[in-house]
Amino acid sequence: MHHVVIVGGGFAGLNGAKLLGKSKSVAVTLIDRENYHLFQPLLYQVAMAALSPADIASPIRSILSEYHNVKVLLGEVVGVDPRRNRLFADIGEYNYDYLILACGVRHSYFGRENWEKWAPGLKTIEQALEIRRRVLTAFERAERDMAANQAGERLTFIIVGGGPTGVELAGAIGEMCRFTLARDFRRIDPISTRIILLEAGERILPSFSVKLAGRAARDLVNLGVEVKTSSKVTDINAEGVAIGTEKIRADTVLWAAGIRAPALARKLGGELDAQGRIIVEPDLSLHYYPNIFVAGDLAHFAHQTGEPLPGLAPVALQQGRSIAKNIMRELADQPRRNFIYRDKGQVATIGRGRAVVDIGKMKFGGFFAWLVWLIVHIYYLTGFKNRLSVTLNWGWSFLTFRRGARLIVSKEWRFYHRSGENG
Ligand SMILES: Cc1cc2nc3c(=O)[nH]c(=O)nc-3n(C[C@H](O)[C@H](O)[C@H](O)COP(=O)(O)OP(=O)(O)OC[C@H]3O[C@@H](n4cnc5c(N)ncnc54)[C@H](O)[C@@H]3O)c2cc1C
Repeated sequence: MHHVVIVGGGFAGLNGAKLLGKSKSVAVTLIDRENYHLFQPLLYQVAMAALSPADIASPIRSILSEYHNVKVLLGEVVGVDPRRNRLFADIGEYNYDYLILACGVRHSYFGRENWEKWAPGLKTIEQALEIRRRVLTAFERAERDMAANQAGERLTFIIVGGGPTGVELAGAIGEMCRFTLARDFRRIDPISTRIILLEAGERILPSFSVKLAGRAARDLVNLGVEVKTSSKVTDINAEGVAIGTEKIRADTVLWAAGIRAPALARKLGGELDAQGRIIVEPDLSLHYYPNIFVAGDLAHFAHQTGEPLPGLAPVALQQGRSIAKNIMRELADQPRRNFIYRDKGQVATIGRGRAVVDIGKMKFGGFFAWLVWLIVHIYYLTGFKNRLSVTLNWGWSFLTFRRGARLIVSKEWRFYHRSGENG
């Protein structure tokens, strides 16, 4: 029996494990530092109080429970010795015959990691809850401080990065101010909230067509968002954001720009790209270690178009499956096949009833695009319970204009550690 170790239960790792779980010639160990698979495309909805974390996450152990040759371990992988086929994790050391590295990427502050404190990014549930806390707290503070006339910067939200995540966050804040919060406050007028989307490049949504990006920008403006392109952020601090000599005061800054591969990628000694992603062979393996494969966001695969494939869920999912098939082929004495990405296109939503769809020759925006966005996300969401829960939540929000998860939850859980006499 050959031992396959998979690091990461994201789209790539999980789908690879499901296929290998059907094979009788391998034993699989999947290690993830979380006990759940996270559907990142809907993470912004947790950050914007539309969904709860459990709606978009499912326990990896239960997703894979039907595959008896797959073992799931909760642990963080910290190193690899590719010469000895040995993997190091905080829970122990493991030998492997094949290794699939599918541990994704994190966001990058382009060497200014100190900005993270002022501008959280969106990659994990913890970050989504922190963003939710900051956004909802900003409205509460503004309501409280109105007499001090500070509502201006209290209610200024800056989103850095005009890719799909930045656009979705900006649109969702705009929508929340206009529809959800408008009636709930007495002293402030949430509609007067200032929402600024900053993009260093010449236009937002650079991976979409120029026409669709223009349409998305107009939709954002209609939701009250100021879209500032060619605006490279040069500093972020407690006061707000600087773009060269221009300073914008804001209490809430959110980060949606840049990616960086984890340090684990460097430990293999292979070739990396500027973001630290591992440059892979046409079959997604490593040049010097053909029994090590890399899949998903962590892989730099440029054999199809000359450009690296984008960090998208369908890319990760297809790569995880392709690697699993190649391992099974090899064990059946058949040659490996090169990976070919079947482009599923891209969708992004700008808010209620507004989205853009870019699938091959089909490029359109508006309400129908939004329906396509809804269907695609429900279809790909893992688990029947989550699909049902998200559909019901969206239906309820659509009819009532309300958001079901508008809770400000503090990180402190101890009664006896809270400050003040009433803590
Ligand atoms: C906010 C946001 C919105 C997005 N929207 C879209 C969208 O609309 N459409 C789309 O197609 N794509 C979207 N994406 C991108 C998509 O989610 C990723 O391309 C996809 O998740 C990549 O899958 P992956 O398996 O490579 O990595 P991930 O899904 O990131 O999974 C990596 C897994 O590895 C685990 N892990 C990491 N390091 C370690 C370690 N050292 N030890 C053990 N486990 C580890 C993590 O816990 C995680 O479970 C979005 C991403 C984000 C962040």
